[in-house]
Amino acid sequence: MPEIRINGQPIEARKDETVLEVCRANGIDVPCFCWHPELSIAGNCRMCLVEVEGRGLDIACNMPVSAGMEVYTESEAVRDHRRAILQFITLNHPVDCGICDKAGECLLQDHHYAHNAKASISHEPKVRAPKHVDLSDRIVLDNERCILCLRCTRFTAEISKSHALGVIERGDHASIRPVEGHPLADDPYSDNIIDLCPVGALLSKDFLHRARVWYLQATPSVCPGCSRGCTVDVWHRKKEWFLKSVGVEENLKIARVTPRENPAVNGPWICNKGRDLAKILERPRATQALIAGQPVTTAQAIEHARRLIAGAKSPRALVSNWGSNEELEALQRHLGTRMRCVVKADRKAEPGERIEDDLLIRADKNPNTRRALELFGEPAADAAQGADLVLLWGELADPALLPAGVPRIVLGSWIDPVNDSAQVFLPVSVQTERSGHYTNFDGVVSAFAPCFDKPAGVSDAAVLFAQLALAPGARP
Ligand code: SF4
Ligand code: SF4
Repeated sequence: MPEIRINGQPIEARKDETVLEVCRANGIDVPCFCWHPELSIAGNCRMCLVEVEGRGLDIACNMPVSAGMEVYTESEAVRDHRRAILQFITLNHPVDCGICDKAGECLLQDHHYAHNAKASISHEPKVRAPKHVDLSDRIVLDNERCILCLRCTRFTAEISKSHALGVIERGDHASIRPVEGHPLADDPYSDNIIDLCPVGALLSKDFLHRARVWYLQATPSVCPGCSRGCTVDVWHRKKEWFLKSVGVEENLKIARVTPRENPAVNGPWICNKGRDLAKILERPRATQALIAGQPVTTAQAIEHARRLIAGAKSPRALVSNWGSNEELEALQRHLGTRMRCVVKADRKAEPGERIEDDLLIRADKNPNTRRALELFGEPAADAAQGADLVLLWGELADPALLPAGVPRIVLGSWIDPVNDSAQVFLPVSVQTERSGHYTNFDGVVSAFAPCFDKPAGVSDAAVLFAQLALAPGARP
């Protein structure tokens, strides 16, 4: 373990560390734009220069530690240099923070105010560049804001391996552009470059000008899009910043989804499906309890369902692998001895969706298969055969699993023809309306929290299982 001194403080470093890594590990702030812990070292922004005794200024990101090094991160020479770099970077940058989605979480803003905070000294007109370059159906590039850190090109070359982005031209005409024959639209991880971009050059078309980030709140959650169970932040409008000009429902929508870094599951990345959770969770909701397709109160529907369960000789429960650990355990506790519980897949891959790869995406498009199977075992091929009552919980990737002509109790969240054809339908909450945990394919348990209230008429599945387990006529 070589010992080095940083700003006079002795620090034990690992042999394979760089000075930047040692500084970060010890809480010493060294600003940078192009460096990222998961990408190769580019060393092109020059922002992380530090002073080394006997060597002068050099970039910390590419400087291996050696015993006895004396490093200064806040010397006058270092500060002068940072100011000069920030002047250089903003030479042609439009500084249009007022209309930039990155404002509030932009490294250029942060570093400028921490290390420069001076207006541009340049008297030359800025070099203009296109403000709206379509990179894909999801991402737009503002060329003027690009500081050529090359995080985006390194991500597509090293992490997603789509090789979709490159640089054309030289000097102040250098621009990020798609690589012919490698469409960014084919990269299911493309939106990670939006987070990676240290400035507002790469923007999500879906999120474009929808909200200032300081009006939003991030709720920790888990992507249910596949059995990887990536941890994410679900961003939604803070109550005190609800917009009066749009309906209440507009304020209660997912604004965006970003990765919540988790070394045990997904590192700092997620795939684009995880960003599109609203497409799954915000489908038209079923909020009305039904008996034979007719609206009833929840209490009436529960009572009818109890009578069906009491009268059945061989009831089956088709178990949702979108249920949380807590809900699955509630089903086992309350109905597990009364019904044969059979785990089924709620969802399967959509047409054109990547099935599986070596980075994150898993073939099982459901979040909690592992815990469901731990509790209820592998289903037999004829698991639903011979049933005289079926309790269907969640969606059904394979409709053939539902035996024809057998009475059904359905617990679901979205409008679906199967709701109306059931003897009893009970609406249940979605993930963003309750808390819980999923166990991913690897056994890692991750928590999700609610960000919205349940709509009127909707119950949590765990509560319904306890209610359905009671005898007909029993008071809850
Ligand atoms: S678009 Fe963003 S991530 Fe890509 S090089 Fe420019 S500043 Fe860096
Ligand atoms: S890899 Fe799976 S869990 Fe992760 S974001 Fe994509 S769909 Fe969601």
